[in-house]
Amino acid sequence: MVALQLARLPGGPYACDVHLVEPRPAPGPGLAYSAARPEYLLNVRTQNLSAFPDEPAHFASWLREKQLPACEFCSRQTYGDYLRELTAGLLAAPAANGVRFFWHHQSAVGATVNADGLTATVRLANGREISSHRVVLALGNFPPPPPAGPATEYLAHPTYHPDPWAPGALQSIEAQDSILLIGSGLTAVDVLLGLRATGHQGPIKVVSRHGRWPMEHSRVHSHYPDFYADKLAGLTNIGAVVRVLREEVRLAAEQGVNWRAVLDSLRPHLGQIWAAWPEAEQARFLRHLASLWTTLRHRSPPQNARIIRDMLTTGQIRMSAGRVRQILPRSRYLAVQISRGPRTEWLTARHIITCTGPLLDYSRIADPLVRELRETGQLVSDSLRLGMVTDAHGALINARGEASTIFSTLGPSRRPAYFESTAVPELRQQAADLARYLGQGLF
Ligand SMILES: Cc1cc2nc3c(=O)[nH]c(=O)nc-3n(C[C@H](O)[C@H](O)[C@H](O)COP(=O)(O)OP(=O)(O)OC[C@H]3O[C@@H](n4cnc5c(N)ncnc54)[C@H](O)[C@@H]3O)c2cc1C
Repeated sequence: MVALQLARLPGGPYACDVHLVEPRPAPGPGLAYSAARPEYLLNVRTQNLSAFPDEPAHFASWLREKQLPACEFCSRQTYGDYLRELTAGLLAAPAANGVRFFWHHQSAVGATVNADGLTATVRLANGREISSHRVVLALGNFPPPPPAGPATEYLAHPTYHPDPWAPGALQSIEAQDSILLIGSGLTAVDVLLGLRATGHQGPIKVVSRHGRWPMEHSRVHSHYPDFYADKLAGLTNIGAVVRVLREEVRLAAEQGVNWRAVLDSLRPHLGQIWAAWPEAEQARFLRHLASLWTTLRHRSPPQNARIIRDMLTTGQIRMSAGRVRQILPRSRYLAVQISRGPRTEWLTARHIITCTGPLLDYSRIADPLVRELRETGQLVSDSLRLGMVTDAHGALINARGEASTIFSTLGPSRRPAYFESTAVPELRQQAADLARYLGQGLF
């Protein structure tokens, strides 16, 4: 999306080359939209998924142009086709403003600032080096961290699945095998839909700390007026924000408006609400409310929620609330120790799938590019371990506390700034802002 926005910068002609470094079979769809199954649906409505914030109908028009059926929650594969096509358009010919785009079908394995201090050299896995004035780290989501310790023998067990999105993951699961999922968020929902689509019939246990599923999107999208400026701007503690939200939900219900519309009306301001809290308050939110908030904010399409309800009703899925303490291999099986308060219990399953969401702690991410940037002090993880430390434009703040003129980032890595920095509506705006900022520095 940054590349698409660079191609649309006004003026030119600019003598500027943009190199996209992406090891996947095609640039554009990334992890989420390279989905292997049509059952995996977008959890955002079509009307909010245009790649361009100033052209909200762009994705819906593309669907019509392709004569694809209109869908409120389309498949992630379809969205991947949209992004792939837009990116292919960039690679086919220089943009109207003269910017040229090149794709390197490679991973970047390192990046160092050159002696001039104005450029960096990015090293690719095939040994090629690219020198550039600006380097945008649009790295997306990294696989979840191991769910239990200190014994880690289970990590090498053939039926432990550390990352459901890894190529070929879950293929060794037989139709009658017992399965235990750790986590009950949107990743777990997708894994369950995939298992059902492949005819899996074995028992499935789901363990999560609070035993909650994502809420369901309402069938009808309704609107609620924006009340941020009047009631929430500048509130510096969570208690006050929660009180306002509760009251607003009550007022909305009196007018027949669902709580979902109240929360959705705040979407453009969630970053400001988060940023107004001191760090201790942000930490309190992470400890006590983030998990509940995530189930309210990141919802399942109604058709997915219905399938999960069916699987619960038939007893194929059973949910246990608790914290995973240990995982031990027991010959062909894996045993999991769960604790809830003073009680502990052991559950056994043939397969364990970690569905706990991405690792956000950049002090632990082992990717070679991230490691080198961290070790050379270019990339610093924030103290709440949510992402990278950046300035207001997304420029990386280095270990000396200076904003980089070369490295910047967007997407999930910017959670320290916005907390909500995951879904397309937020990211496309970040992309437009970052492209404008890069353009100002270069042209
Ligand atoms: C399974 C899943 C489903 C999701 N569903 C939705 C949804 O329905 N709606 C929604 O709004 N959001 C959804 N999201 C959120 C998603 O994070 C964003 O919508 C968006 O895809 C993130 O884009 P990105 O470019 O930051 O990351 P990605 O699209 O993941 O792209 C990052 C890319 O960087 C590449 N990369 C990483 N490291 C290197 C390296 N060292 N060298 C070269 N390339 C590298 C990766 O190969 C990857 O393709 C989902 C996320 C996931 C994981």
